[in-house]
Amino acid sequence: MPQRSAGFADPIIGSVVGAAVCLLVSLAMICGCRMDGIDRIGSALAHDGVAPNGAPKILVKDKIRVHALSPNPAQSLLVDELVELKTEIESKTGINLSNASTPIDVYLFKDEMSFREFTAQANAVFADRRAFFIRSKEALNVYGFWGMQVAEDLRHEVTHGYLHGAIPQLDLWIDEGLAEYFEVNPDADGVNATHVRLLADLGRQGNWKPSLERLESITDPTQLTQTDYAEAWLWVHFLMSTPIGSEVLTTGLVSSGSVDQIPWSVEVKNMLGDANNQVLNHLAQVTQRTLTPSTVTR
Ligand SMILES: [Zn+2]
Repeated sequence: MPQRSAGFADPIIGSVVGAAVCLLVSLAMICGCRMDGIDRIGSALAHDGVAPNGAPKILVKDKIRVHALSPNPAQSLLVDELVELKTEIESKTGINLSNASTPIDVYLFKDEMSFREFTAQANAVFADRRAFFIRSKEALNVYGFWGMQVAEDLRHEVTHGYLHGAIPQLDLWIDEGLAEYFEVNPDADGVNATHVRLLADLGRQGNWKPSLERLESITDPTQLTQTDYAEAWLWVHFLMSTPIGSEVLTTGLVSSGSVDQIPWSVEVKNMLGDANNQVLNHLAQVTQRTLTPSTVTR
């Protein structure tokens, strides 16, 4: 499970104005998730209609357009999974994603080396990142490479693509919480075992306690820590675990970015009461059924 943080100003673009970037990174690295502007990373390296990764072939299914140098049957299956992901997100969030008109372009590099060469040209900030997502006015672009964790990486980034294609403005924590939820294998019921383990350990050590008020107050993506990512996932998993929580989630997403939007923490408190304690109980239940005794750090 890569460590992530969200949001940074792209040194190429210089200022932050309106796109979204999420970077999946290695365990020791941090990633960013939101910035504004155009996708200069891609456009700077695209020439004469050739994709940034030089891929001449495009594998198109529904809203997903995969630009790959050498498409293979496994990639086709992965695209099928990404198309099914849209239905899963719609089912779990109650949000209709089918009306979004912008396709999600996935620039899939053939291997890590070629991806590293690309990120080195584009921006040093991207060094060591495994995948990232950039939203601009015109496009929803995902960059990644064919490797052992490509399925997880693309599920995470394409989740951002689906959400940003349908919802004009998303609070940082819910954006990342949902991406963390949907990145796991569909059979895992959204349980992100790495996050469960981290939060359980931190809680046991007295080094963390949940606070949605604190989490939603983070608007600078560079300030998101790995613990914040884990907590964002936990809140999403908690909300989805009950009908009333799911209602809060759907209502919040529908009103997201509108004048009618109520702060998530206020709405959660109105509907669920002292949710900070409830989410701890939820974590305890998930921990019990997810982690075997031998996997729990003591
Ligand atoms: Zn992300």
